[in-house]
Amino acid sequence: MPELPEVETTRRGLAPHLIGRRILAVTVRKALRWPVPDELREYLPQQRIDAIERRAKYLLVHTQAGSALLHLGMSGSLRVLPQETPPGLHDHVDWRLDSARILRYTDPRRFGCQLWQPSGETHPLLRDLGPEPLSDDFDGDYLWKLSRGRAAAVKLFLMDQKVVVGVGNIYAAEALFAAGIHPKRAAGQVSRERYARLAGEVRRILDYAIARGGTTLRDFISPDGAPGYFEQELFVYGRAGEPCKTCGAKVRAITLGQRSTFYCAHCQR
Ligand SMILES: [Zn+2]
Repeated sequence: MPELPEVETTRRGLAPHLIGRRILAVTVRKALRWPVPDELREYLPQQRIDAIERRAKYLLVHTQAGSALLHLGMSGSLRVLPQETPPGLHDHVDWRLDSARILRYTDPRRFGCQLWQPSGETHPLLRDLGPEPLSDDFDGDYLWKLSRGRAAAVKLFLMDQKVVVGVGNIYAAEALFAAGIHPKRAAGQVSRERYARLAGEVRRILDYAIARGGTTLRDFISPDGAPGYFEQELFVYGRAGEPCKTCGAKVRAITLGQRSTFYCAHCQR
């Protein structure tokens, strides 16, 4: 599943191809997670793309008429292609641009979306979101204060979008390992000092993944077609039964909040 670094990589890859371009037409072949609203076909044509912003794992394509809100879901990808490129089975939405190219949305599982946000409004999906993990609003003190009295496992707390956005399963597992915190520890029982370390590790790991173009989740392809190559640097995620790279103990896997959780019982307390 594309996580924050993949979405940020996508944003950076698309920006030079989209910003300043005019959209000529929008073709929708199939509904995504939700039907693509008529506003996209009605309002986007003739609009110029002013900016592309990322909020959590959403991309906002801003025009004067309003903004398209895009999410890659489980298996979505956006690519800029020559306009004559014939659509394949999973190519569900094309935006024709004035550069003789198209912005093509491909999504085999169709859990992604393309929605509309009128100018001056915040889409309901973007309300109630916590701070960006790479912003100044996110640090150890923030996590420590918010977590007091909470019995939920710290990994679930960290993955709660109302707490902080965009820390997905892989990055939560890796940051908790790097900070030496057991994923099942109650969020309210993690000290201020350990949260300071955790916030720093979240930032470091996300920054690093963005710099490398995201992880290599089998179905993620960056806009230039090259897969990321972060996988060999994962310490616990996906490594159940393999030796911990720090202490040699076997990495364990449990299920937490219906998600696989990987950790080292020796290094993480
Ligand atoms: Zn270990």
